[in-house]
Amino acid sequence: MIVILKQNADSAQLIQLENWIRERGLDIHKSEGTNSTILGLVGDTSKIDIDLLGALEIVENVKRVSEPYKNANRKFHPMDTVVDVNGVKIGGGNFAVIAGPCSVESEEQICAIAESVKASGAVMLRGGAFKPRTSPYAFQGMRGEGIELLEKAKANTGLPIVTEIMDASQLPLFENVDVIQVGARNMQNFELLKALGKQSKPILLKRGLSSTIEELLMSAEYIMAGGNENVILCERGIRTFETATTRNTLDLCAIPVLKERSHLPVVIDPSHATGVARLVKPMSIAAAAAGADGLIIEVHNNPEKALCDGKQSLTPEAFDDVMKAVEAVRPFAYKFN
Ligand code: PEP
Ligand code: MN
Repeated sequence: MIVILKQNADSAQLIQLENWIRERGLDIHKSEGTNSTILGLVGDTSKIDIDLLGALEIVENVKRVSEPYKNANRKFHPMDTVVDVNGVKIGGGNFAVIAGPCSVESEEQICAIAESVKASGAVMLRGGAFKPRTSPYAFQGMRGEGIELLEKAKANTGLPIVTEIMDASQLPLFENVDVIQVGARNMQNFELLKALGKQSKPILLKRGLSSTIEELLMSAEYIMAGGNENVILCERGIRTFETATTRNTLDLCAIPVLKERSHLPVVIDPSHATGVARLVKPMSIAAAAAGADGLIIEVHNNPEKALCDGKQSLTPEAFDDVMKAVEAVRPFAYKFN
């Protein structure tokens, strides 16, 4: 349920109303915009008398919100959320490119890639330390040591670091990580989402391989319900019947649809969505044009020798070319509001 307040609502009456709502066991999500203030009521609102609220002097309008996600809902928060990652902003017109290898492999590798992607305009460094691999015999990542190497690359370049968590027990290792990634395979690991909701680092939440947009938003809701509002949504390709060339099918429509429904920033991962390096450029251009708030792209200094996802990884030169193409299209990008 959302309660839209009249302009210049009396503050004493507003405090009374907020207390009345909280006494009924509901949480309040308050959004103060330039034109109006909205109270989003979170919890079981079935016993709230909508007419009673609507009759209050300070209330302009009351509406029931039918979607099961509340905190993530644009109706609760009409303005775009801007996530601030140690000074690097994403959302609300701030476009951010995250780049780096699929996996951290060595100090030389991650530090060299960090320098080159920064020179091309990336504002955050990615790199997997804990890798969710289909085969238990495949490279599983450097784990804690990988995070230490990311920290070195961050110290050298100043780029905030983004890396995937697979279990809440790993959280102590993420103390110096700037954005915690939840991978596609963990999008519905609800205990992990709850644990991440109780801490304050921004979360990059990737859409599950076979998850709907509503399921993605419900997973964001899990994190936000715990108190962490810093969620970045990521479309990374979904499973469809199509197998020609691509690893997954990039759902570009998810960008405007997510932005209609939610105020959270939306980034596109053209690397995992396509699985093929040469398709990363056209999909990056398309994502930027369709109004994405950013991209996350896999870059490797020697893709042929990469321990993971070499086929979809760009060389630093190819990444530089993608960045120039994306920059060129950005002024014409679709804007949701
Ligand atoms: C990744 O970003 O390295 C990754 C494993 O992605 P996803 O969870 O989207 O497969
Ligand atoms: Mn990868």
